[in-house]
This record gives sequence, C-alpha cells and structure tokens, in this order.
Amino acid sequence: RLQLHGSLITEPLVSPLIPQTHPSLRANAAIVILCRNSDLGQMLDTLSQFEDVFNREFGYPYVFINDVPFTPQFKNTIRQATRNLVEFGEVESESWSYPSWINQTKAEECMHKMEDDGVIYGGSLSYRHMCRFYSGFFFRHPLVRKYDWYWRVEPGVSFLCKIPYDPFVYMHQNNKEYGFVISLLEVAKTIPTLWEVTRDFAMSNGIGREQSKLLRFFVNDETGDLGDYNMCHFWSNFEIARRTLFDSPTYLSYFNHLDRAGGFFYERWGDAPIHSLALPLLGLNKSQVHFFNDIGYQHEHLTHCIDHVGQFQNTCQCGGRRNFDRDESSCLQRWVEYQEKEWTWWDPL
Ligand code: GDP
Ligand code: MN
Repeated sequence: RLQLHGSLITEPLVSPLIPQTHPSLRANAAIVILCRNSDLGQMLDTLSQFEDVFNREFGYPYVFINDVPFTPQFKNTIRQATRNLVEFGEVESESWSYPSWINQTKAEECMHKMEDDGVIYGGSLSYRHMCRFYSGFFFRHPLVRKYDWYWRVEPGVSFLCKIPYDPFVYMHQNNKEYGFVISLLEVAKTIPTLWEVTRDFAMSNGIGREQSKLLRFFVNDETGDLGDYNMCHFWSNFEIARRTLFDSPTYLSYFNHLDRAGGFFYERWGDAPIHSLALPLLGLNKSQVHFFNDIGYQHEHLTHCIDHVGQFQNTCQCGGRRNFDRDESSCLQRWVEYQEKEWTWWDPL
C-alpha cells in the first residue's frame, strides 16, 4: 500500500521486475500522438527525451495523427529522430466536425460566452474537436486499432526518469487497465452538466449498478445522497491504457450519449474527465487503475517527479521542479486514501 511521506510519495507501488527477467516479452502497443505540423519543434524535444528514457531500447511504434496532412518536412524530421516504426495518419472527417444535431449558432454563442468568462480554451473550436476526438475516436482510428495498448504522448511534455522496464507488459501482467501519472481537479466551468449527463446514462442503461470502489474517488464526501462530482480526474495528456477499454460497447454508447447531449460544443467537455468517469462505468476496480509513481513527467506547469523511487534509484532528472502531488488541486492524496467506501450511481449506501 502506497504511503505519503512528507511532501513525497516515496514508496514504489510495485517493483516491476518482471519485464527485466523476461526481456523478450513485448506488448502489442503503440505510442499515440495527435499533433499539428507546427508542433514539430516541441515534438522533437519530447521524442528525443522519450527515446532516451524508454523507447530507443523498447522499440514501440509511433502513430502520429493530425487533422490536416503532415508535411513531408514533419514526417522526414520525425523519421530521422527514431529508428522505430512511425506511421502518420489523419483524423476521419466525422471525428473532427460538428455532428448534424449540433446547433452551430448556439455553439458559437456558448464559445463566445466562455471566452468572455475567461475559461481556458473557452472560445476555441479546434480545442473542442481535439477533446471530442480523444473522447470518442482516437482508439478506433485505423492506425491505432491494430494495437491492444496505447501510450498517449503530447508534444512539449518531458519524461524525467529512466524507465527501465516495460509499462505495457507490467500492466498486462498485473491486471491493470488504465495508468496515469497526474490526477487533478477539472475547471468546473468547462463541464457544468457532465456529471448529470453521465449519471443519466448510467441510470437509464442500468450500468454501474454494482457497487464500485472506483466511483467513490470521484464523488464529494460532504454532499448528501449521491453527492456531486468532486472534479477529480486523471490528466489524459499522459495515459497508458488498454485500447479496448474505450473501443467497447459500453464506452461507445456512453460516448454517443455524451455526444448527443452536445456538451463537447455547448460546454467544453475535456476528454480527461470523460475517460476518468468512464472507468467506474466500465466496472473497473481501483486495483485496475495504476498510478505510475516511477515515471517522471512534466506537462506545462505541472510535474510529477520522484527521485530515489522504487527499485531503480537515481534515474530521474527532476531538476528542482516542484512536485505537484501535494498541491491543493492535486487529487493524488485522495487517490491514495479514499478506498474505504463503496458507491453506486444509484442509491446512497
Ligand atoms: P492542453 O494540454 O489541454 O493544453 O491541450 P493541447 O493544446 O496540448 O492539445 C492536446 C493535444 O492535442 C496535443 O498533442 C496537441 O498537439 C493536440 N492538438 C490540439 N489541438 C489540435 C489541433 O487543432 N490539431 C491537431 N492536429 N492537434 C491538436
Ligand atoms: Mn498539452
């Protein structure tokens, strides 16, 4: 059991020795990256770091996806930065456009309002397409579909620790389905109705009637009855997960329900809270969600990096970055501690 000591999480979760003792084991997995041609510079920085700490040795293929064709320069430059297989693809048009039932005038009004309200990316349509793509489509893209596992990476992120084992194999062998590094509070103004719409879905489809120890993580402690969403979610710019978790009948019908409700456009629903709330809907247990304490990671202003963690010490270059884990808006402490009570979408227990 993981313990918090001082300001650091010091105890490794599990010592992932298995892949080292079975170096021939390999997962059917890919590194999946949605980005723009203009992300090339940041992508190269991230890629060279990712290769250094992990993938030069482990050799997993990369799938790059864009909403417009990648330029020859982008492709050539990326291909020169790795010896691993690289495939480039485009989004399919229905995964990057307004669905027919969306009132575009209303959507534009909502975007203006959110922009005026100072919500981050509040006025951006492309950001909404991106969130919708990551919510409902990336996992069934033809280039991604052939893999069982994916690791989502973004241009500009940093990988700060050597990863001397194979996280995919680790997950496979330990019955893990979804892996994260950072968990935090969502900006509430981006998802005014997401919880309600999610609960409607669960209750009208009889999904999640079973008690779940995972759902409890997402529910406020203090409100009555079923309580409300506490805004905790896993930050999906980093994800290592089983692809078929999402390419599954329950998830797809959840996504369709959300898509119909229009919140990708009328609000600004992110793929992160959606993936997170799907985990209890999909019947996962807490033990099937893995916190990669030993992966040092930075996305924009937030860092998780613990030196001297686990079996493999002194392999991080945290560089004095402040660790986010104990921050007020981090949900990690809750993740570590919440496990006692079970919960359902249906009735208070
Ligand atoms: P944030 O992490 O929430 O601030 O969002 P980002 O701007 O980093 O976008 C998330 C991911 O989607 C990144 O990998 C971006 O490169 C990618 N992305 C965002 N918007 C677009 C877009 O309009 N086109 C393409 N091709 N990729 C995008
Ligand atoms: Mn980002």
